[in-house]
Order: sequence, then C-alpha cells, then structure tokens
Amino acid sequence: MSNATFTLSLDCEGMWGMADNFHKFKNDINSTLLNSAYDFLINLLSKNQVHCTAAFVTAFGTNRDELLTFNNILNELHKLCPAWYSSIINEIYRNNTDGILQPELLRLFELDNHEIGWHGTTHIPANLSNSNIDLLELELFKNLTISKKYKIESIVFPRNIIPENLNIYKKFGFSNYRGCLHSNIFYNLNQFSTNPYKLDLQEMRFLYKESLYEINSGHFLNWPSNLRSLVPINITVEKWKQTINYAIEHSLNVHMWFHPHNLITAPQMQISFSNIINYVGEKIKSGELKSKKFGELVRSQLNQ
Ligand SMILES: [Zn+2]
Repeated sequence: MSNATFTLSLDCEGMWGMADNFHKFKNDINSTLLNSAYDFLINLLSKNQVHCTAAFVTAFGTNRDELLTFNNILNELHKLCPAWYSSIINEIYRNNTDGILQPELLRLFELDNHEIGWHGTTHIPANLSNSNIDLLELELFKNLTISKKYKIESIVFPRNIIPENLNIYKKFGFSNYRGCLHSNIFYNLNQFSTNPYKLDLQEMRFLYKESLYEINSGHFLNWPSNLRSLVPINITVEKWKQTINYAIEHSLNVHMWFHPHNLITAPQMQISFSNIINYVGEKIKSGELKSKKFGELVRSQLNQ
C-alpha cells in the first residue's frame, strides 16, 4: 500500500502581495473577483476531500475596525518602510478596502477544516524588512484575533524569501515553514514536458533548521500568464498526473502551491487546477493517496 501524500498550500493575500506596486495591479483584483475565485477553489477541494494549508496574510483576514485599533503599530511600520506601506495603509485609512481586507474568505477555509497558516502579517518580504519591522509584524500578529482563535503553526514566507534568523518565529509558536525552490531556465523549460517533477529530490524533506521544520518547497502550479501562457494547459495537467502516479508508486509527497488570485489573472488555470484536483480526488477515494496539511506532515514525520 502506498504512503503517498498530496499537499496543497495557498498564498492568500489579496492586494497585500503587491503592496509595493499597488496602483499597477489594483484594477486587476477586487473583492468580487476574489470571492468568486475562492468559492470556486473551496468547492472543488470539498468535492474531492482535499484539505489544504491556506497561508493568510493576517491583515487580509482581519476587519478594518480591528486593524485600526492597532494604528500605532501600522504608523510605526509605515515610517520604517514607506515603499511597502504607503499606498495600502492610505487606502485603509480612506476606507477603500476592496481586495485588501476580506476576513470572510478566511472563514471559508476554517469551516471546511483546512489549516490556516501565516503568510506574514502585512506580507512585507524579508529583503525589505529588518529586525525592527519583523518584531512589529509579529507584535501585530499576536494582538489580532486570528492568532488567538486559530493555532497557527505553519509559515509561507512572503515572496518565498526565507529570513536569516528563524529563531524568533519559534518563539511566536510557529513549527514549520515552506522551503523555497529557486527556479532557473532549466526548471522553466521543464514546464513544457510531461515528465514528472523529480520528487526523489524533494522526498519528505523536513529539515530541522534553527528549530523550525522546513517542508519541501513543492512546485508552483503553472500560472498561464505572459511567457508562461506558452505552456499548453494539457501539458501542465499531464505533468501533474504523472507526478501523482510517480509519487504513488514510490510513496512520496506531492506538494503544489499557488496564489488563489492567479485564478483571476489567468482564468485558464481554473481548467488545469480542476482537472488535477479531480484526479487527486479519485486517488484519495481509491485509497492510493492521502491529503496532508503542513501541520500533519510535521506530526507524521515526528511519529515515524
Ligand atoms: Zn505572497
């Protein structure tokens, strides 16, 4: 019997992911489009009994009244890195929160028993941050209801940039984070082939790095936009099916990730994603594959 597992992690961020380029993207993404993309996604996962790790930007999952209770921290952050915070904080103060604050989306994942993870409090990436900003971010996180209501232990670092000092995250109750795979030209060209991803290199890699477990980086579901749109959808679907088959054969973990808003900016991705998740669902039903969230992966590793 195979011990293969399927893990899906989602970077849930709305406009926070583009805070440093806010005005360029603000016409592409809004609450209505986000609601419909998240609904599509949640329904598909539920139909196929797949449970994911939904890593939320804490502010994105918080309502405006609560967030503004901590305007002293927001103002402090703004001063330390105006390039990241100016546009998005001004929008919140002006009560233009479209695509910026959507706690109802976080509740959708909670209701369906998905894991809520952390994708930064305000999505500032490590290359723009410093130790003062990191502390303020974690301080804000600790004060917001989300951190009190859910046991949040899994991190997806913004823009996949792993900070140098991980000890501080352990102190705030986190146990693991998603690793980062650096893509290059060969990796990108590999998207045009139906060969499975080399899971043998990624096999259940839980490095115990500075007190946090590193979960294997997984692979980005091809986002068919710009040059990436040259990869035919059927090739992407076939590649993932081959990867799943390979994982079942060798008892490995398949890890897929993307941003739910990619489904808005490249609607073709809904086709690839539903085909792949329906296939995962068939394999779960037949008992060949199990759906595992990050926290479950860590615990299964500890119990071995
Ligand atoms: Zn992100």
